[in-house]
Amino acid sequence: MVSTRVVVLGAGFGGLELTSLLSTSVGDQVEVTLIDKSDSFVFGFSKLDVMFGKKSTEAARSYYRDIAKAGVRFVQETIVSIDPVERRTVTNGGTYDADVLVVALGADYDTRATPGLDEAGNEFYSVEGAERLRDVLPSFDSGHAIVGVTGPSFKCPPAPSEAAILLDEFLTARGTREAVDITLVIPFGSPIPPSPATSKALIATFAERGIRFVPQRRVMSLDGARKVAVLDDGTELPFDLFLGIPVHRVPGVVEASGLAVDGWVPVDPATLETRFPNVYAVGDVNSVGTPKAGVFAEGAARVVANHLIARIRGETGPGPYDGRGSCYIEFGDRKVGRVDVDFLTGPSPTGTFAEPSLMIAAEKDEFGASRRARWFGA
Ligand SMILES: Cc1cc2nc3c(=O)[nH]c(=O)nc-3n(C[C@H](O)[C@H](O)[C@H](O)COP(=O)(O)OP(=O)(O)OC[C@H]3O[C@@H](n4cnc5c(N)ncnc54)[C@H](O)[C@@H]3O)c2cc1C
Repeated sequence: MVSTRVVVLGAGFGGLELTSLLSTSVGDQVEVTLIDKSDSFVFGFSKLDVMFGKKSTEAARSYYRDIAKAGVRFVQETIVSIDPVERRTVTNGGTYDADVLVVALGADYDTRATPGLDEAGNEFYSVEGAERLRDVLPSFDSGHAIVGVTGPSFKCPPAPSEAAILLDEFLTARGTREAVDITLVIPFGSPIPPSPATSKALIATFAERGIRFVPQRRVMSLDGARKVAVLDDGTELPFDLFLGIPVHRVPGVVEASGLAVDGWVPVDPATLETRFPNVYAVGDVNSVGTPKAGVFAEGAARVVANHLIARIRGETGPGPYDGRGSCYIEFGDRKVGRVDVDFLTGPSPTGTFAEPSLMIAAEKDEFGASRRARWFGA
């Protein structure tokens, strides 16, 4: 029997989910090569834990060397070019030809697109940025703090709201909250646009915690000399501590491949196939219309995996991608809320809110633990 050669670019939420599903169902009929430049995976939400000193980076890492799955080979190499016509990938270590190529390379950050961010601010969206903030936060005890979004679209729409709430909690625990004002700047009209109930609960929490909420604005630059953040309408906000959400971009290697159009990779929304046959794009890298979040990357990977499994087995393919997913939201006091969103099945996105509770906090822990077991277990 001839095996199908599947090359998966990127071992994040999308790549890991795809790989484990293929291995479980058709591990004896595929040769999956999973490529990532990193040696380990870290959940996006763990960056908040690292930043606020709740977890060490080491505890947050899952190492790819632990992947032992039938039909799967992990290689730690940096991808330098992708040819979607030939389905050929070149890395710093070799060349990989595929029958099916899946691009799951996520989104990169462009901190330089926001003048002053590198020099006068911080970002908490990368592990390194979260680690730097972990070292900065304990010495910040008075002044103006801003959590600010700098680009039009960004990963995990609830994360800026969570960061502002957790900052309030961090400062309160240290007894310095009174001496700090916290402002949250986001480009949307409400914290979670598809879910008015979730937005209402977050806005009420901001009010209770004295967090100033500035909707429909972006931070365009930081003036380090004058210590002001300049918004897209010219408003200036003073800051002593800036926690930024950097501009997101498609990774350079994807841009150079010709796969991206208007910034991100367009796909057939039902199948996640790009305009190149047998080349798929899942997760943050595509422009399918769901938010940039792990649960959506995972859901998209599931559709591609089920499609490939059906094809290999000669069965009928699965239904179309539904763009559904649940996001957990930290509300402070160890409580976590949940919003269940549906982006693609109706005329417009909708979201249902589940009130913050310790029970949902436990559910979030289980969400992480079950992925670790599925992706990294035998
Ligand atoms: C602070 C924060 C909180 C978040 N909270 C949540 C949450 O609660 N729930 C949720 O669902 N999502 C959350 N997210 C979002 C989530 O982390 C991402 O949306 C998700 O990881 C996207 O999955 P992906 O597979 O598309 O890409 P990624 O998981 O980013 O994976 C892409 C992989 O590609 C690799 N790569 C990139 N370029 C190259 C190259 N040239 N060569 C080799 N490898 C390369 C990277 O190393 C990476 O491992 C959060 C994100 C942040 C920053």
